[in-house]
Amino acid sequence: MATQPSDSQVVGNTLTLMEIYKEFGFESAHRLPNLPPEHKCSRLHGHSFRARIHVQGEPDPITGWVMDFAEIAANCEPVRHELDHRLLNDVPGLENPTSEVLARWIWNRLAPNLAGLCLVEVSETCTSGCLYRGA
Ligand SMILES: [Zn+2]
Repeated sequence: MATQPSDSQVVGNTLTLMEIYKEFGFESAHRLPNLPPEHKCSRLHGHSFRARIHVQGEPDPITGWVMDFAEIAANCEPVRHELDHRLLNDVPGLENPTSEVLARWIWNRLAPNLAGLCLVEVSETCTSGCLYRGA
């Protein structure tokens, strides 16, 4: 009769990947220049955008966390500063600032310095947004 491994052995051999997130907001104006003039999004308007940044990893055995939330926030702050209270169309790379373009733009800003980045979520309203998982 085979013996069953103890719970601690199972836990010790199992990769415990977890995903954490930190959210930030920015108030910005935009217009979508590639749409026909009769489309409402072609007109200048604003949103209270939300960006949720997800980081994946194994919780550290000592701290118990994947990463300090403050570390994610610190990485996001320069990005938030580039977007907040701006006309997004004026920001290089955001000439056509859809949620999709914004999500990829934020990803490209964060990825070099944020190990474990796995998802960028951008919401322009409570019911509309985009999820981007990298290339
Ligand atoms: Zn809009």
